[in-house]
Amino acid sequence: MRTLVKNGRVVTAVDDYQADILMVDGIIVAIGRGLSDPEAEVIDATGRMVIPGGVDPHTHLENPSGQTTTSDDFLTGSRAAAVGGTTTIIDFAKQNKGETLHYAYDTWQTKARNRTCVDYGFHVIVVEADEARLAEVPDLIASGVTSVKMYMAYRGRMMVDDGTLFRTMLAFKENGGLVALHAENGDVIDVLVRQAVAAGKVAPKYHALTRPPILEAEAVHRAICIAEVGLSVFAETCHYLILNDSRYEAPGFEGAKYVLTPPLRPPEHQEALWRGVRAGDISVISTDHCPFCFADQKALGKDDFSKIPNGGPGIENRLSLIYNAGVHGGRINDNQFVNLIATQPAKIFGLFPRKGTIAIGSDADLVIFDPNREFEISASTHLMHIDYNMYEGMRVRGSANEVLLRGKPIVRERKYVGQPGDGQYIPRQRFGG
Ligand SMILES: [Zn+2]
Repeated sequence: MRTLVKNGRVVTAVDDYQADILMVDGIIVAIGRGLSDPEAEVIDATGRMVIPGGVDPHTHLENPSGQTTTSDDFLTGSRAAAVGGTTTIIDFAKQNKGETLHYAYDTWQTKARNRTCVDYGFHVIVVEADEARLAEVPDLIASGVTSVKMYMAYRGRMMVDDGTLFRTMLAFKENGGLVALHAENGDVIDVLVRQAVAAGKVAPKYHALTRPPILEAEAVHRAICIAEVGLSVFAETCHYLILNDSRYEAPGFEGAKYVLTPPLRPPEHQEALWRGVRAGDISVISTDHCPFCFADQKALGKDDFSKIPNGGPGIENRLSLIYNAGVHGGRINDNQFVNLIATQPAKIFGLFPRKGTIAIGSDADLVIFDPNREFEISASTHLMHIDYNMYEGMRVRGSANEVLLRGKPIVRERKYVGQPGDGQYIPRQRFGG
């Protein structure tokens, strides 16, 4: 299979130049001016950017949560990712109490196999880490699961205590792994939630009011202290750059669409986050795509915000939203954009240089991106399997026109043209490897 992208403006995290790109059997083999290949399919990228395929390191597809399951499975969620310019996702395989880490990994492999439209890897969510579980870590890492996630909130479901957190950090450090955290002080939040519900404060807006920023700050601080001074700490953000807590003031039950954790914050937090992004303190922009339909899933909490499934959709809209608000908004440049949505996630999570850049020898995951195409985001046109969009009605400039997954066009003229099962499992390298 030979593909030649002609006349594009190649933008990576560090470069910006005019060139043609030749791909053979899924790998970039030549980058230069005036390339030709009589056997290759030619795609013209005149007037557009050619960027590496997006890497979204935070998605929850077909993920059981309480009494319900996220509404996108590996097929619908990854297809939406593809049309939005994301060619690799790292999804969360959740351990349940009493189960091994390998069981979680195998379960998610089965969900994803032969159905996924983009390349994928897994983090495992660790809820229990006794000696037997930690003994699995070297094998897990050898399988390419080189990071895990732990929750400092949701006691009784996912929350780990500080000792478990610390033991797991040590085991992963020893084996070249990385620990990702959901940082909120779950126990104090649980008290605030119970008080609010008992006082009849059950509307969606109390979700945010019972999870104040200080309890997120405390957990982040505690986690960094536990990790000891000197260990690497990276920060990730997502919808918080675009949305703020005014959404919780929407009439009726509308605010439930934005019930996710940590909750949306006041506008001044948004500007602080953008400063962090610009300064490089925040390395990664993901989506935390965790979709629950408004009509029949979010509605579980109609009379009590604490029963609303936590999470929101975004896997399809990340590149457009960040390009619009970041680059057109004058906050970051094109190179920083690519760095945040592809290169840094690939580097931190052991996928670089195979993913996250455009270079000879890298996978031919390319997005032909039109920086000026304007469109309106809407649930009526999105591919995600969910009945609302958190960015409904927002007009954004910048969109993926064509998407190539290892040289194969899977999106043409913004239409999905690939096959379920095009995506492959990508075992990831050790942290820092
Ligand atoms: Zn998440």
